[in-house]
Amino acid sequence: MSRLPDGRRFAFTVIDDTDVATVENVAPVYRLLERMGMRTTKTVWPLGCPEGSRDFDSSQTLEDSDYRAFVVDLQRRGFEIASHGATMESSERGRTLRGFEEMRTTFGAYPTVHANHANNREGLYWGSARVDEPLVRTVYRLAVRAPDAFEGHVEGSPYWWGDLARAHIRYVRNLTFQTLNVTRINPTLPYHDPRRPAVNWWFSAADAENCAAFNRLLRPAAQDHLERDGGIAIVATHFGKGFVTNGRLNAETAHLLELMSRRPGWFVPVGELLDWLRHGGAGSPLPADEWRRMQRRWLRDLLGRALADRARRAAAWLGVGRAS
Ligand SMILES: [Zn+2]
Repeated sequence: MSRLPDGRRFAFTVIDDTDVATVENVAPVYRLLERMGMRTTKTVWPLGCPEGSRDFDSSQTLEDSDYRAFVVDLQRRGFEIASHGATMESSERGRTLRGFEEMRTTFGAYPTVHANHANNREGLYWGSARVDEPLVRTVYRLAVRAPDAFEGHVEGSPYWWGDLARAHIRYVRNLTFQTLNVTRINPTLPYHDPRRPAVNWWFSAADAENCAAFNRLLRPAAQDHLERDGGIAIVATHFGKGFVTNGRLNAETAHLLELMSRRPGWFVPVGELLDWLRHGGAGSPLPADEWRRMQRRWLRDLLGRALADRARRAAAWLGVGRAS
């Protein structure tokens, strides 16, 4: 493939969402990535969450001085710092704006990459609004059974920040798939979607919820395929979820990243990679049949993951196999 610089044959990067991340449980991952010559993207929360958070309370934010120093240092070392919203629970416009300004004063510029977080109501085109196919929307709603009222893009809503996103954010993550090479499913990467005008460009990613899923996704055979096909791998994961135990990085993760780093790939952050692809002529409007396939594949992978989780839980309950 000739569209990457310096004869690099494929690209690999990570967008690490900051859920449950602390200096202690992610720093060893970043030390290894740096040693391997890989630069990736890390989302952060600029503000704490005084109202509390059932699922994410253990996460650190830029209000924690050790975490703040760690993230500022990461940026200095070439990692990209991106937006995951103002904090771990829903933010109305005022808090989103404060978080945005905090990002600018801390990192010298507004973030250019954003990923929506969980059930935060300020999500941009989130929940069933991620897709258009009526059947995909209906099955998604039935399967997820979560609140489905996301209003970041709705002008006049207390959660609105679509104007800011449009002015400052270049890339937002939408659909994720269970495959390392995302251009196999979404070759038009990044893409603009005129039905979702608050977002300048969208990108797809490979989904790896936690360490076990990350290791499955990066298995050597998948790395072989990625290199052979000259693909683009943008892995969406949470380095805070099981990658580090007692200060040590999971041995298999370390091995798989070392294997990846020895291949002739391009290992730059998400924003830099997407800029390059776009300036190289990618990023035209998304063909209708590609979008249709993406939505169906996304739903299939989502349902597959839900079933696999249920099977693992059942196996653990029955005492066969181990929960992972
Ligand atoms: Zn999140």
